[in-house]
Amino acid sequence: MLTHNLGYPRIGINRDLKKVVESYWKGDISKSKLVESTEALRVMHWTKQKEAGIDWVPSNDFSLYDQVLDTALLVGAIPERYQELYDQENDKILSYPIDTYFAMARGIQDEDHDISAMEMTKWFNTNYHYIVPEFSADQTFQCLSSKIFDEYEEAKAVGVITKPVLIGPVSFLLLGKEKEGGGDFHRLDLLDKLLPVYQEILDKLERMGVEWVQIEEPFLSLDLDGKVKKAYRKAYQKLDEDLGELNLLLTTYFEGLGENSDLACELPSDGLHIDLVEDQNQLEVVLDKMNGEQVLSLGLINGRNIWKADLEKAAEIIDQAEEAIGSDRLWIAPSCSLLHCPVDLEQETDETALPAEVKRWMAFANQKLDELSLMKKLAEDSLTDEEQELVRAHQADLADKGESALVHNPDVQERIENLDDGILHRDHPYRERKKVQQKHLDLPDLFPATTIGSFPQTKEVRQWRADYRKGKLSWEEYEQHIKEAIDKLIQKQEEIGLDLLVHGEFERNDMVEYFGEQFAGFAFTRNGWVQSYGTRGVKPPIIYGDIHRPEAITVKWSSYAQSQTDQPVKGMLTGPVTILQWSFPRDDQPWSETAKQIALAIRDEVKDLEEAGIQAIQIDEPAFREGLPLRRDDWDRYLEWAVDAFRMASTVVEDQTQIHTHMCYSEFNDVIEHIARLDADVISMETSRSQMELLDAFVEFEYPNEIGPGVYDIHSPRVPSTDEMVALLEKAADVLEPEQIWVNPDCGLKTRGWEETLPSLENMVEAARLMRDKV
Ligand code: GLN
Ligand code: ZN
Repeated sequence: MLTHNLGYPRIGINRDLKKVVESYWKGDISKSKLVESTEALRVMHWTKQKEAGIDWVPSNDFSLYDQVLDTALLVGAIPERYQELYDQENDKILSYPIDTYFAMARGIQDEDHDISAMEMTKWFNTNYHYIVPEFSADQTFQCLSSKIFDEYEEAKAVGVITKPVLIGPVSFLLLGKEKEGGGDFHRLDLLDKLLPVYQEILDKLERMGVEWVQIEEPFLSLDLDGKVKKAYRKAYQKLDEDLGELNLLLTTYFEGLGENSDLACELPSDGLHIDLVEDQNQLEVVLDKMNGEQVLSLGLINGRNIWKADLEKAAEIIDQAEEAIGSDRLWIAPSCSLLHCPVDLEQETDETALPAEVKRWMAFANQKLDELSLMKKLAEDSLTDEEQELVRAHQADLADKGESALVHNPDVQERIENLDDGILHRDHPYRERKKVQQKHLDLPDLFPATTIGSFPQTKEVRQWRADYRKGKLSWEEYEQHIKEAIDKLIQKQEEIGLDLLVHGEFERNDMVEYFGEQFAGFAFTRNGWVQSYGTRGVKPPIIYGDIHRPEAITVKWSSYAQSQTDQPVKGMLTGPVTILQWSFPRDDQPWSETAKQIALAIRDEVKDLEEAGIQAIQIDEPAFREGLPLRRDDWDRYLEWAVDAFRMASTVVEDQTQIHTHMCYSEFNDVIEHIARLDADVISMETSRSQMELLDAFVEFEYPNEIGPGVYDIHSPRVPSTDEMVALLEKAADVLEPEQIWVNPDCGLKTRGWEETLPSLENMVEAARLMRDKV
């Protein structure tokens, strides 16, 4: 039996990759220095994995920005607009055009160029974002970058024989999109042109003496139509034709193979990796269908979460597989690349963030590698006495987690057991609420103007928070600063002429972390970074136990803001689904249960806000749609608990209190019926860039409640004109009832500067006034 790893976090233990890449961008270090420092990082990672006893360590899992973008460069899929740059880039280190590469990722704007970046989107159901390859009808491919070969040699030079990672041809095409105006074709039609390049790559790897290639086809875990299945058969038959000694490990993750298990087992490959964390049931099916020679790789350690693995349970699964196919053909691994979890738990020494009792239930990437080695020895019955002791302690930690009073809170559980259905409903339907709210809030009947919540988080604001954390500011001083910021903002909003005001969210670092920090059941890390995209990372909170809200969180800020004005101020909360999606969740109960607990904690906050005199409360759910499972069959179950969680959080209020929600980057077509079931009085969303296209779903569905389609693109410092915003609002008024429409930006303003924010909002309010006169 062999152990292997699918991918190691590339950011480095101290976010070293971020530092060198950003220094390069700033011009502080040279190209060769960049190459040198990242090589050092890779060598460190290979050595680390080898020392942990991993038999097959991956190479080409490293990336300066993104592995899909690397693949685009590998096969020469450089969109035309970067061609000029590529031609000019004479210092292509090892045939790797780094500047063209970064321009593709981030766009480039200087005296000579103004080229937009390629699109970015979420990597399956993770919070990692990849660069979307662009294809045109006359697309050609060629083996361009030598990265995959270079990194193999690099590892070999330091004594590590690796298994190169390569995104498979079908997944690569499916990950991309047909370029607008690029002709009428389907990207899978390019397969015939792409395959020879893959053949060339594999051929070269073989000549270099590579034994195994981890060829990744995550789409095999999704719903596939006939066209895709056909492409799979064709591609792998073709690749198999002239493979000599080189072995392909067909790699899937994030879901079970489901009804594609026939297809996956039938494709000519020398091995298959399956994700048994997401779907354990597939094991039996796959064991049954594999041919007599294939290697089976069992993904047994969760590559996306931070909990210790149950080694004994894993050993049982290994036994089951071993009985069926023997140990020679058996590999064990994490479920997916460890890219999705932080690097090293040892670094977390701040017990105020992460209590020692919780820490000992956890494992980051380095710890997971050790788990893998132990798991193998446990299954093989070859543990030394010392290792036996390690396994015993490990399992004891898990048993302790199962019973710990930190995890289980009888009050929370009792409350959930005694919930009745009434908790999911407002007192009266929207139509009736609307009348009461109109009187209560006294907003303009038509086109009321508001914002999404946050205002510029200037350096100054962030400095207060940092100083308070370091003890340089007392709580009273900190509070005073925030209050002054709120005072000024209230005054500004009144001057601008906004109708429903906000307090500005100056007290928040992050919309999820802020709430997590005040809920019981959450822990935090100081250095638990996970790559989100490029050099950006996130530090997701850790949900370890039953959640409740020991005391009110936002009430003091919102009621302070309300005390400064006669106009209504909107309370601002993050919704249960988003808090859950952007955290590391518990693995000992279903997500739906955790969502319920968060929902109840928010419900308490909503009630307190209402009692403190707040007349409108917004519960943001930007992650609602991205939480959709990868398989259609699982959608209904998700939507059921996700909608219930939102309702549970929001329906506690009287008819007169207006509930808002907000979603950004959302596509609503598939889920509009469920958005309607949220029964928020008002929903705001991002629409300005799509020219109100997103509204179609609402129109078709005859969405009954109020809608604030964003008219101001907050992702750019540009100041939108009144005319533009009037034009967008007219588009909205053409298809919606005027009484339904709110006027607001696309999203929060926290990343903007005041210089552009003020004139933009003035123009927006002017647009609302013009619209009121028009209808
Ligand atoms: N209320 C939040 C803000 O304005 C919403 C952020 C979001 O949707 N991502 O910042
Ligand atoms: Zn938003």
